[in-house]
Amino acid sequence: MITLAVETSCDETSLALYSDSGEVCKEITLSQALVHHSFGGVVPELSAREHTRNILPLLDELLRTSPVDLKKVDFVSFTLTPGLILSLVVGVAFAKAISYALGKPLVPVHHLEGHIYSVFLEKPVDYPFLALIVSGGHTDLYLVEGFSRYTFLGGTLDDAVGESYDKVATMMGLGYPGGPVIDRLAKEGQPVYNFPRPMLKENTLNMSFSGLKTAVRQVIEKGSYRKEDVARSFQDAIMDVLEEKTLLASRFTGIRRVVIVGGVSANSELRRRFGLLQDKGLLEVYIPRPRLSTDNALMIAYAGMERFKKGVVAPEDINPEPNIPLEVFGKVWGK
Ligand code: ATP
Ligand code: MG
Ligand code: FE
Repeated sequence: MITLAVETSCDETSLALYSDSGEVCKEITLSQALVHHSFGGVVPELSAREHTRNILPLLDELLRTSPVDLKKVDFVSFTLTPGLILSLVVGVAFAKAISYALGKPLVPVHHLEGHIYSVFLEKPVDYPFLALIVSGGHTDLYLVEGFSRYTFLGGTLDDAVGESYDKVATMMGLGYPGGPVIDRLAKEGQPVYNFPRPMLKENTLNMSFSGLKTAVRQVIEKGSYRKEDVARSFQDAIMDVLEEKTLLASRFTGIRRVVIVGGVSANSELRRRFGLLQDKGLLEVYIPRPRLSTDNALMIAYAGMERFKKGVVAPEDINPEPNIPLEVFGKVWGK
């Protein structure tokens, strides 16, 4: 069985061809990072225009470099939600057009569900497990008891971690996206600043990062600082919170298996720290390779394949939504 998968929820236009046997596994992603670089974040209208401009040439290239042609596709998987609505519209309209032209079904995928299953592209993880989703728009903990069976445990009450990286990078004039550059700078820095770790010791799985961002801003506005030291101190604070809350989730649920996914899971310090927790026997940690941490259509293909195998397809008049919670989506599109 082969699926064509479509991902356009934010600033990556990504298409993939994937077969459940793993024989076909081809992805092509075009990042718009350069388009948004000077704006400090993603500009929704520019993002939608770029998707529209690039999606058909991308399909051409995918087909040119893949061993299968479009007629072999059994169904089309696509990101339905969450994301920038104008960007989602491009991908959903494209997925519908291909599905209609081929006479093949459409299978909706939740973008965060895609992130969770990015790990499965390397090796399936046994249920139940915890999922720490750390991305540009989300920082949440879920309990996953089976495919499409998601329970929200807690998450950020304000900024997402990826968003915090992006904002701190913008404050220091480092451009968008901020994650990779702060990750790099932090290696050269010292933990000079004792930034706040909000809600660290509270007995809740909720988190908050806006106070941290404000504390960083205050240091930067004073004028004299080393970017490397700010990056290091900021990153240390973030990782302390992510570690503590994941351990707390494990304690609350009695589950030690945890998948860590989303763009921030590409971070080298996060990988090091959770690697240590695994070495200590506290957690069993699964993180996708960095290429699969950030947005890509292969993860959408994998989740789409799981859903299709359960016999779930979408009606042809389905429309994107900017923000259906994962837990709700899982119930509506599960079986
Ligand atoms: P969401 O998945 O919540 O809808 P998104 O799709 O925009 O949001 P992703 O593509 O999953 O987010 O992740 C992008 C985010 O990951 C950006 O905020 C970026 O700064 C961050 N990021 C990427 N690489 C790293 C890194 N090495 N360290 C820290 N953050 C990183
Ligand atoms: Mg992105
Ligand atoms: Fe994402």
